[in-house]
Amino acid sequence: MDAILTMKPDPEDRWRPVPMIITRAADMHQCRGMRMGYAPLLALMEPALAAGHKRLGVIGIPCQVYALRALEREYGLERLFVIGTPCSDNTTTENFHTFLSLVTSKPDQVSYLEFRADYHLEMRFDDGRTQEIPFLKLPLSKLPPDFFPLTCRSCVDYTNALSDVTVGYMGGEGEQWLIVRNERGEELLSLLGDEISTSVVGSRGKRKAHVAGFLKNVKRSSGGLPLRSMPDFVRPIVAWLMPRIGPRGQEFARARVEMKAVESIVHLRHALPGKVKNMIPKHVWKLAGDYGLKRREGE
Ligand SMILES: Cc1cc2nc3c(=O)[nH]c(=O)nc-3n(C[C@H](O)[C@H](O)[C@H](O)COP(=O)(O)OP(=O)(O)OC[C@H]3O[C@@H](n4cnc5c(N)ncnc54)[C@H](O)[C@@H]3O)c2cc1C
Repeated sequence: MDAILTMKPDPEDRWRPVPMIITRAADMHQCRGMRMGYAPLLALMEPALAAGHKRLGVIGIPCQVYALRALEREYGLERLFVIGTPCSDNTTTENFHTFLSLVTSKPDQVSYLEFRADYHLEMRFDDGRTQEIPFLKLPLSKLPPDFFPLTCRSCVDYTNALSDVTVGYMGGEGEQWLIVRNERGEELLSLLGDEISTSVVGSRGKRKAHVAGFLKNVKRSSGGLPLRSMPDFVRPIVAWLMPRIGPRGQEFARARVEMKAVESIVHLRHALPGKVKNMIPKHVWKLAGDYGLKRREGE
């Protein structure tokens, strides 16, 4: 490829994503890591074309890839390869700093943060220290209800369905999870040769009760009620149990996709009921139907 469009950290704030055109493989390492925030990735498309780049790679979250596919034909590229990551939710970088200051007393020293499929948040620090916090111990009830915007809370493309290849953690059990979606995705994967080793996705645990419990909580919170939380003395036990008996691998991925499906319906119904009809696709109703959410008149 001539160039890759992706995000690098802002030199003044490492958690702020800044779009970048990368033309040297050696520069890709600067882009590593998840940074919460919005940044206009596709604004780089015209400068990239003006610089003569005709074979492009784009790495993006689903909302960026969605826009890219809508505009793709207008760009007249020779080749376009799209690497997508799944995305459950995004927020402003300012909000993300608030979150960091709630989870650690040294927020300015966090160099890496990732939510993992084993129900832990992992943080790495500048001094090499690492910390893992079970999801159940995260101070989520302290976050304002609009921490994640309605656009994310009603997004139905968690797995980046329009990418050529999706790379995420959610269907993995420690390793990354790959969905190769078409021939271009296969072409990309084959370029890695034996630098990559793959294995069949595992699947353990049962998701139904978890998704149903999540739906109950989403209904409460969208109606303005506080999230129902478990007593403090039970938390460490459940936090210990979840990675052992909760849904894992493909079952975890399915659980998260279904959680997003039910969440989108509940939030849209509450905030913008008139939009449900156009914004909730058929397959999402199918997923949500298993949890008692059915189309109402006018939806
Ligand atoms: C806001 C957000 C939410 C996510 N939610 C999930 C999730 O729920 N489940 C899941 O499996 N994976 C999720 N991911 C993807 C996950 O964080 C990893 O990027 C993915 O597992 C690939 O890991 P990696 O080590 O190969 O990526 P890396 O080598 O670290 O590459 C990550 C790529 O993502 C780009 N990137 C970072 N921040 C942004 C941003 N704000 N906007 C656009 N691009 C960005 C980087 O520039 C880089 O190219 C999310 C990513 C983001 C940005």
